[in-house]
Amino acid sequence: MTEEKQKITEGVRVIRWRMAHEELRFRDELRNIPRWLISVAVALFVIGQVVAQIVYRYTPHRQERLIEIMGVAAGMALFLGLLLLFFGYIYRDAKRRGMNAPLWTLLAIFVPYLIGAIIYFLMREPLPYNCPQCGATVTARFNFCPSCKYNLRPACPQCKHEVGAQDKYCAYCAYELPSGA
Ligand SMILES: [Zn+2]
Ligand SMILES: [Zn+2]
Repeated sequence: MTEEKQKITEGVRVIRWRMAHEELRFRDELRNIPRWLISVAVALFVIGQVVAQIVYRYTPHRQERLIEIMGVAAGMALFLGLLLLFFGYIYRDAKRRGMNAPLWTLLAIFVPYLIGAIIYFLMREPLPYNCPQCGATVTARFNFCPSCKYNLRPACPQCKHEVGAQDKYCAYCAYELPSGA
């Protein structure tokens, strides 16, 4: 296998691992949004309503009613606020995954039609997790825990397929696995 091919295989493996192990719940993910950004979004909404009032008061011959102007302001504030929170989430998420957070956030903001954001969600690194033996933080790219040498990716000694830590027999070739393989 060429080095390039190996890299791609490794990339695919990491993505599959992430899909199998990361059960992200929307409610938990919302907590990842910075608090101050939520305040900014709320402030945006309030400012929009104040501007609506001012526009209504100081342009005497407007055709629109106050409620309509307020509605437009609310819609715009909501749209902008949600975008802000979305990019704030990407920044925090990239950071906790050990990725280049400013770069990915800029990419998500400036590549049009949210294509940058979609690329981010396809490419993002798996979340670090704790070693089952010693609790040290490890990533899906590790084969062994750097603190305690725990085998994070046990493989069948006969066919070299990856096997589960609790498996008694290899699922691919039925080889009897030594306990703690
Ligand atoms: Zn460990
Ligand atoms: Zn096997």
